Amino acid sequence: MPELPEVETITRQLRALVVDRTISDFESRWIRLTEPEPAEHMAARLRGRRITGVRRRGKFVLFDLDGGESLVVSLRMTGKLLYGVDDVDERYVRAEIQFADGTALRFSDTRKFGRMALVDAASLAANGKPRGAKPPLHASLGREPLARGFTVAWLGALLRKRSRAAIKPLLLDQRAIAGIGNIYAIEALWRARIHPLRSAGSLRPAEIARLHEAIRWALRKGIRLGGASPSDYVDARGRKGRMQREFQVYGRAGEPCPRCGRAIVRTVVGGRGTFHCPRCQRAP
Ligand SMILES: [Zn+2]
Repeated sequence: MPELPEVETITRQLRALVVDRTISDFESRWIRLTEPEPAEHMAARLRGRRITGVRRRGKFVLFDLDGGESLVVSLRMTGKLLYGVDDVDERYVRAEIQFADGTALRFSDTRKFGRMALVDAASLAANGKPRGAKPPLHASLGREPLARGFTVAWLGALLRKRSRAAIKPLLLDQRAIAGIGNIYAIEALWRARIHPLRSAGSLRPAEIARLHEAIRWALRKGIRLGGASPSDYVDARGRKGRMQREFQVYGRAGEPCPRCGRAIVRTVVGGRGTFHCPRCQRAP
């Protein structure tokens, strides 16, 4: 499932590939993709519009259009935005954005959980948070972990406010911090030497500082390596990331902890497969 580093990788690539291109048509092949807006209606709004920018917010890709609206894409489990990729499996192409120059951006999605919505600038607001009535996709998102505002003090305040929550599910809560998913939460908690089931309120100041550093370390490493492809993630050019080669604990049950040598353990926390070192990350 694409997380912040994967979506950031795609966003940076698409910024170089589709900005300044004018949309000539939009075709959806999956009825629920644009729900509740009919695809033909969205196509009519997209035709003739120029892409002025591509941004990431949490795990969403935002295509800014001239006229002030943005096309918001949620990749969810298996969504892929592919540009200039020849060997695309047609069975999984759910939508195509055609450009006036004859090129196209295709949305492939095996599991069909991905969604698209065309929203106005006001519903995104300056910091990316939607205002007003229930937005179509863009539920209220928390702070960006790589932004300047994500400080140790801010993280400490969040952990105090949500003191009874287990730390790992809290890291995955997009309303608290936007963009962290299962893989990067697991890698960050290992680096910070914090057990996934510790309560947020039990973390000491030194642990909060370590967690803050570890979150950014894991995410930046993911971006540097073009994202993680433990299963089917590919970037906008159809290429796999390299982060999966560098996992310290994710998917490594039974293998020695890179820090202490103890065997990595797999558990389930909040319904998600979780990996940790029982020596470095002491149970609460
Ligand atoms: Zn260890």
